[in-house]
Formats: sequence, structure tokens, C-alpha cells
Amino acid sequence: MALQVDVAILGGGLHGLSCALQLARQGAEVVVLERDWIGRHASTANAGGVRTLNRDRQELDLGLAALTLWSSLPEMLDEDCGFRPVGQVRIARTETDFATEAARVQALQSDGYTHEEMINANDLKALLPQLGPECAGASYARNDGAADPHLTLRAFRRAAERAGARMMEGVTVTQLSRHNTYWDLDGIVHAPNIVVAAGAWSGSLARSLGDELPSRVRASMMTVTERTSPFPGPVVGCVGAALSLKQTTAGTLVIGGGVQGRADLNTGRSQVDFERLAIGLRLPLQLFPCLEHVRITRCWTGIEALTPDHLPVIGPSPRREGVFYCYGFSGHGFELAPITGFVLADLIAGHAPRWPLKALCPSRFWK
Ligand SMILES: Cc1cc2nc3c(=O)[nH]c(=O)nc-3n(C[C@H](O)[C@H](O)[C@H](O)COP(=O)(O)OP(=O)(O)OC[C@H]3O[C@@H](n4cnc5c(N)ncnc54)[C@H](O)[C@@H]3O)c2cc1C
Repeated sequence: MALQVDVAILGGGLHGLSCALQLARQGAEVVVLERDWIGRHASTANAGGVRTLNRDRQELDLGLAALTLWSSLPEMLDEDCGFRPVGQVRIARTETDFATEAARVQALQSDGYTHEEMINANDLKALLPQLGPECAGASYARNDGAADPHLTLRAFRRAAERAGARMMEGVTVTQLSRHNTYWDLDGIVHAPNIVVAAGAWSGSLARSLGDELPSRVRASMMTVTERTSPFPGPVVGCVGAALSLKQTTAGTLVIGGGVQGRADLNTGRSQVDFERLAIGLRLPLQLFPCLEHVRITRCWTGIEALTPDHLPVIGPSPRREGVFYCYGFSGHGFELAPITGFVLADLIAGHAPRWPLKALCPSRFWK
């Protein structure tokens, strides 16, 4: 006998769980089907950056709404996600970078967005005392920060389960067929609505449904160091470079930013490219020469979906009834996780979306 539910969610990453949570809280019968185990891929492999700084305008309103939620997650989920609003900076090493960045922030502010500001070289040095070279300044989002991906995943999972959502792990959805009023998922689950939240594998699921949505794969690499002396300040990024550096509460430094390893979607495994990793680590050493003797303890990669415009795909299938997409976060979906559940719950209930979604809808690729 197939399990009958209102909504079946394909993929047990943070976005699948966020959808499950909000749908279950609205009274829907929900099941999450996860091929491996909940949180196996990008949702726990990530750097935990909660960043609205330099976000694409098309997803900025959603990102700002998510940021508001990050501060209230302990109440919303009844558990701590380790969110620390330490801020995020984007260092401009040269006057040219500073001018470009200042123009970007000025344009944002002219449109009424106040979450970013520019800081000069002295303020930057005060914020990041370890900074070695003279830099021109930085853009700064003081309410941004970082959270703990594992705590976040666990908190979302447990909150969704407490709300009544079921989790099925070790189940790969392969066959989706539409019957009169419901989707049949491999004969295991019947549901009128499905959410494709399968990360890097969403593109092929969409194709199997007849939706040709362009999607490639990213395999971003992460490095963790041994514990170091206190490294105060915001999460550090840099104009024109793939960098994100922060200290965890355990004292280790987590360094990422999008330097790419290798991914194999068929096996679901990814590999560190040590040569590229070493090249990528030159910049943090230039910025912070005090790290020269700090040892690396671990590195890894995580697989996720990349869209051509680096924006997620969020919205209903224009072709298939009862199909909703929520994937393609292209390296910055951790920050958005608290909000996507609300968005998808609204869409599935047939309510008008509370945030602008036009630029994120699946049909944007078919113009
Ligand atoms: C190394 C790295 C660092 C990052 N750093 C940041 C950061 O600092 N800040 C930020 O905002 N974002 C960051 N991101 C991006 C963020 O992690 C992702 O955007 C987000 O986790 C995507 O979540 P998801 O739920 O869409 O995908 P996933 O977590 O990948 O979940 C999708 C799930 O679907 C399952 N699945 C696939 N196919 C099927 C199937 N057929 N049937 C059933 N289940 C299936 C998979 O097993 C997987 O568990 C980073 C990503 C990586 C890889």
C-alpha cells in the first residue's frame, strides 16, 4: 500500500526540511523522501555563512526576510542553530575595488536598502585587527553572520518531525507518474503535490517530468584549521576573489568561498582538488600573514546545483500540475533556508507569494 499524503518532498536537505516544517505546521500531511540520509549533501557540507552582503537584487528581498528569521530561529524551532550575527565584510584591496563597491552600495541605498554600508581603511583595521596589508576599505553588512550547519539541520529536522512530517531515508525517487489527482512516486507514496528539493539532482528529476531546466553541478571546497588564538571580527570575503573566512566557537577557522573541486553526480561523491585548494588558500594568507603557521586539519567538498544565472529555481512547474521546484541555490542557499518553507507553503496553498519570485520562477529559462 502506498503512503497517501498531501505533499511529498523529494530531498532531505535544509530546503526540503524547511518546506516540510511549514507545510506540516499548516496542517498538511507531509513526507520527506531522502535518497541517502537527511542532510547528507550541501546542507551539512556548507560553510554556514548567513550573508545578505552582495546578494543578487533578484533574491535580496527573500534574503533579507530570511535574515530576520535567523535571529528568531531558537523560538521558531525550539532549538539553537548557532547563529552569531557577527557581520560580514567584503574587503576592497585597491582603491578601484573600493570605488566599484561604493557605487554598488550607493545604488542599493538609493533603492531604500540599508543593510550594507561602506567602511574605510581605518574602520576595517579596527574591525579586523589581524589584517596584514593596507586595504582600501570594505562593504559591510553588520547584521549578517554565520550559523552551525549541523545544528541548523538537526533543528529543522526535529521541528518538522514534531509538527508531524515523516522522514523516509534511503529512498531514491526514480519514477514519477501522474494519475488523475495525484503523483505516484515509485509506488511508495501517492501525493497530489510534490516539491523537488533534491539539490544537484533536481535538474534530472525535472527533466524526467518534462521540464527542461538548465542545471549544472558545483563542488565547492572547504578547509578547516586547527584551533587558533582568538580571531575576532566578521566573516571575511573579498572583492574579486572566492573567499569566506570565519572562526567557529571552537576556535578553528573555516575557509571556503567557492573554490571548486570535482563532483560525480552518478556516485554522489565529490573530491578535493588539492592543487586548486592550495592556490585558493594563498589569498587568506596574504590578507592574514599571522595564519602562516596555522595547520589545516580537514578539507572536504560538497555537491550542489548551479543555475545559469546563479539564482535558485523556486515556484510551480508551468507544465505539470502539482509540481513545485525549490533548488539551484548556486552556493548561497544556506542563508535562504528559513524562508523557503514559507514560500513553498504559500504557493502550494494557492496564496499569492509574499515576496517577489518572478526572477526565480522555473519558466524564466524558456523565454
Ligand atoms: C562547500 C559548500 C559551502 C557552502 N557555503 C554556504 C554558505 O556559507 N552560505 C550559504 O548561504 N550557502 C552555502 N552553501 C550552499 C548551501 O549549502 C546550499 O545552497 C543548500 O544547502 C542547498 O540545500 P538543498 O536542500 O537545496 O540541497 P541538499 O542539501 O543537497 O539536499 C538535497 C537532497 O536531495 C537528495 N536527493 C537527490 N536526489 C534524490 C532523489 N531522486 N530521491 C530522494 N532524494 C534525493 C540528496 O541526497 C540530498 O540530500 C555552500 C555549499 C557548499 C557545497
